Amino acid sequence: MEVPCVRVRREDGEATRRRLAAEDLVADTFEITHEDGWLYIPVTDAHAVPADLDLVDREAPERETQTTPAELLGFEPSYERLGRAAILDEDDTDRAREIAAAIVESDLPVETVLNKASKVKGETRVRDWEVLAGEGSDDGASTEVVHREYGHAFALDVAEVYFSPRLATERHRVAEQVAAGDRVVDMFAGVGPFAIPMAARGADVVGVDVNPRAIEYLRENAERNGVADRVTAIDADVRDVAAEYAGWADRIVMNLPHSADDFLDAAVAIAGDDCTIHYYDIQHEDDPFGPGERAIREVAEPEYDVSVETERVVRSYAPHECNVCLDVRLTR
Ligand code: SAM
Repeated sequence: MEVPCVRVRREDGEATRRRLAAEDLVADTFEITHEDGWLYIPVTDAHAVPADLDLVDREAPERETQTTPAELLGFEPSYERLGRAAILDEDDTDRAREIAAAIVESDLPVETVLNKASKVKGETRVRDWEVLAGEGSDDGASTEVVHREYGHAFALDVAEVYFSPRLATERHRVAEQVAAGDRVVDMFAGVGPFAIPMAARGADVVGVDVNPRAIEYLRENAERNGVADRVTAIDADVRDVAAEYAGWADRIVMNLPHSADDFLDAAVAIAGDDCTIHYYDIQHEDDPFGPGERAIREVAEPEYDVSVETERVVRSYAPHECNVCLDVRLTR
């Protein structure tokens, strides 16, 4: 079976294996292989591998000593990993319990199994959860995890804040555009999965969120990742912060896909003379980018020249609906 592996010179193999193991990234269910002086260490989550390591897809034999959930169940279950939690999206409670039991019994490094119990909802985009397995920590917060993404660690409680591991590649794409000294406003920052990698590249980042728990985690995560000096975390409705940062930003992240257009006045107020906006939207597949572009032009022109630099489908959201991103440059 082909799995993501870190490729490393044989002499650096043990140090790299230990480094990955410290972050729960070694996929123990597969064998480490070697060829021509290189070791190939299978990893559990390609997105969480630190950027300085070389990642390749490679055939790796399954370890016979490790038991997988699929072996116990007789079918391949669908789940996502979020730190030491496994996330299910099962409507059938019996099936969900069966999968949870197999995950716990398997050799996966999972302590908690959670099933989605509602859609994300309300202003804070938090969903309800059914805890299928896991005692949690002393305070009983079995929904709290530390998740790793592209070498950064994010503490978060899925019952209190929004977070989706599926956006890892997209966040990395955007963070890679940031240069040291950039001034960034993340208007809907959550626990910091855009803000922290950007600060790690040397940007000064203002992260705003209306959910006070998200801002507490953003501060904690900025400390945890050694970027607290470059992250200002503000617990507020971003529209109330716009005047304070008027004309300040070189780059703005707008990840509130269903209603970002309601916040374009604030974004344009925050934008500096030359500013890139990463605008997330959910639209019908027949015209996924048109509504966002028209909304931005309506608010920003004629004060700014507007040019759409990237149109990208991030993922499918629902039948015939997609989650998209427009990277739009505003030049005054
Ligand atoms: N950017 C984060 C991420 O990728 O995980 C969070 C994105 S989540 C879809 C949107 C966030 O916007 C939520 O954390 C929510 O609390 C926040 N939010 C909603 N309305 C807001 C407002 N008026 N001002 C600031 N934040 C807001």
